[in-house]
Amino acid sequence: MRYQDLSYWLSSLDGPLTPRPGLPGDTDADVVIVGAGYTGLWTAYYLAAADPALRIVVLEKEIAGYGASGRNGGWCSALFPTSLSALARRHGRDRALAMHWAMRETVGEVGRVVDAEGIDCDWRAGGTVVLARSEVQLGRARAAVAEAREHGLADADLVLLDAAEAAARCQAEGVRGGTYTPHCAAVHPAKLVRGLATAVERRGVRVFERTPVTALRPGVAVTPAGVVRAPVVVRATEGFTPALPGQRRAVAPVYSLMVATAPLPEATWAEIGLAERETFSDYRHVIIYGQRTADGRLAFGGRGAPYHYGSRVRPDFDREPRVFAALRRVLGELFPVLGPEVPVTHTWGGPLGVARDWAASVGLDRSTGLAWAGGYVGDGVGTSNLAGRTLADLIRGEQTDLTTLPWVNHRSPRWEPEPLRWLAVNAGLKVMFSADEAESRTGRPSRRAAAFSHLLGH
Ligand SMILES: Cc1cc2nc3c(=O)[nH]c(=O)nc-3n(C[C@H](O)[C@H](O)[C@H](O)COP(=O)(O)OP(=O)(O)OC[C@H]3O[C@@H](n4cnc5c(N)ncnc54)[C@H](O)[C@@H]3O)c2cc1C
Repeated sequence: MRYQDLSYWLSSLDGPLTPRPGLPGDTDADVVIVGAGYTGLWTAYYLAAADPALRIVVLEKEIAGYGASGRNGGWCSALFPTSLSALARRHGRDRALAMHWAMRETVGEVGRVVDAEGIDCDWRAGGTVVLARSEVQLGRARAAVAEAREHGLADADLVLLDAAEAAARCQAEGVRGGTYTPHCAAVHPAKLVRGLATAVERRGVRVFERTPVTALRPGVAVTPAGVVRAPVVVRATEGFTPALPGQRRAVAPVYSLMVATAPLPEATWAEIGLAERETFSDYRHVIIYGQRTADGRLAFGGRGAPYHYGSRVRPDFDREPRVFAALRRVLGELFPVLGPEVPVTHTWGGPLGVARDWAASVGLDRSTGLAWAGGYVGDGVGTSNLAGRTLADLIRGEQTDLTTLPWVNHRSPRWEPEPLRWLAVNAGLKVMFSADEAESRTGRPSRRAAAFSHLLGH
């Protein structure tokens, strides 16, 4: 496997993706981190920044950015997998809002570090426009704004757009309105994760690549090349977690897939819009997401690939021709200017982590020294930064505003054993697909999809 083939983003980096040296043998450290995606690297970054004397080791089974961090849609957003209302029901309004403000600030914090560390990742804080292309979708746009107002959030957080305002940002076919939030930046995800790996090394963190961890225990991470002993062991393996011993039911790996067009001419962009490189989506049930890349492509993705029995993660699951074809079709429906003559040059995908209660979490078990973060579903680009800062505070024993946020030390229940897990996850995907089909046929909102979303705590 060539790492370049894992995503358009990894293929577009300057220079070869030569792996760093692996772990040379048994090693002692203060903190050992498993996984060199955003979660592992942000954790290392903030720990090293706070205490340069800490001996920090990162162990990565492939290369930094091999996982979702090198393959995602590049929305560095304030989105969190659990809605504000669901958080308020579980934790009270004040704590729910604290989580919201922390996520909002996170987008700015990532921008600040990118700047300070000179990470050239095509950062553009153009916000997000979510389109409504039917009366039913418009209903959901209004409901999203009403929910924001209920929690005291103003137009500056989320504003309802009429048809003309939405089209002025993103001229998709049949736009009737939508919403806009400024709290998102478009990034080149692989440049961000690779730049972060270099930034942590500059601060003295040792990153070992091609070093798979075969077992995690209190005080030790075991690899074929030797063990790393450290009082704190951080699991930052997200969608790959089920492959670790004892973790099969911790998160379900669900696949998200993407396509990218060739660079589009200015005349095409004049018809599509996205002049501020706003990230975009719409109010259908099965999530779609897109960004105008800095080199003028449209990178576009969505869910819909099946969950694989036994929570298996395999490279061939990244490629699902049926889903790539569906994504290409949706692109053409949204933007008729992207007719069949416009080539899709890249297709790829990767696993994300979904906890049984759909709740992302971050934590440290003080009695064992085992720490973790993840379960971000499709919102990990921003959230992993908050996780890294929070883990750094927890590991250093600091009590801060971050360590009291409601997701800290939350324990999600384990997924059901198979075959129930397979049935549940794939049934959920099916409900969402058929809801979108039924809604466009009948023009009425799907009750089954609403009930299902409620079940998931959305
Ligand atoms: C196609 C796609 C599109 C997405 N779009 C967005 C988006 O636009 N915005 C957003 O916010 N989120 C998005 N996400 C989700 C986001 O990318 C992830 O939530 C985020 O990258 C998770 O970072 P992470 O570091 O926790 O996990 P990962 O980036 O998956 O990193 C985990 C790392 O651990 C390593 N590893 C695993 N097991 C071991 C082991 N045993 N030993 C050593 N190393 C190991 C892996 O090789 C990998 O490098 C998307 C995800 C995908 C797949």
